[in-house]
Amino acid sequence: MIDTHCHLDLYPNPGRVIAEADARGTYVIAVTTTPRSFLGNLRLTEGRKRIRVAIGLHPELVAERYREVDDVCRYMEQTTYVGEIGIDGSPPHAGSLALQRKAFHTIVRQADQLGGKILSIHSRGAASAVLQTIEEEGGKNKSVLHWFSGTQIELKKAIDLDCWFSVGPSMLKSKKGRDLTAAIPRKRLLIETDGPFGTDGDRPLMPWDAELAIPVIAKLWKVPATEVADTLCVNFRNLLNPKDLQVSES
Ligand code: MN
Repeated sequence: MIDTHCHLDLYPNPGRVIAEADARGTYVIAVTTTPRSFLGNLRLTEGRKRIRVAIGLHPELVAERYREVDDVCRYMEQTTYVGEIGIDGSPPHAGSLALQRKAFHTIVRQADQLGGKILSIHSRGAASAVLQTIEEEGGKNKSVLHWFSGTQIELKKAIDLDCWFSVGPSMLKSKKGRDLTAAIPRKRLLIETDGPFGTDGDRPLMPWDAELAIPVIAKLWKVPATEVADTLCVNFRNLLNPKDLQVSES
């Protein structure tokens, strides 16, 4: 199974989660919230071939850590994956919107200039601003909108920009999340958990729980769950296909 957006280092016992994900054969894109946690994740996941570590700077941290944008750009040469990045426009973070936009713009442009990267992007309350930057600077990147919660009109724009989308069990709990998911082109759909922030009741989702999304998607698509699982595997392989990027696979 596959989890395209998980914060492995933020579980109470990351070592145990990583070992179990590895034992279960789960593919994980391990997003990070700071450059320092990128380095920590590289150490934690060393030798785990199905776990790919992304360099990130979470938008909610940009107000305090704007200076670390330079480190994000520097470490980006070591990986094909960039995330968690993006813009958060919700009330607690609206004060740093201008700075967040600047950081996101710089990171997306750097990723493009390095030949294109796979980006995992947060866009809560800021879908239009995120899409504007993708349009201006996205270029060769593959932009994955994680837990997208914009409007149907914003979704349409994201689809026109050839964005990808990662949805998880948490997003699929709401009708809005299911309606958005139903409107995403099947070839651009991926699954995620956003664990340990994504939860099932009061339990944090584990990377292998991403597959809980499959029966819900099967219902939306009106096809058997096995067909959804096959499509998601093909999509993930296409996302990772290094031929579409001008960089070599890390
Ligand atoms: Mn996240």
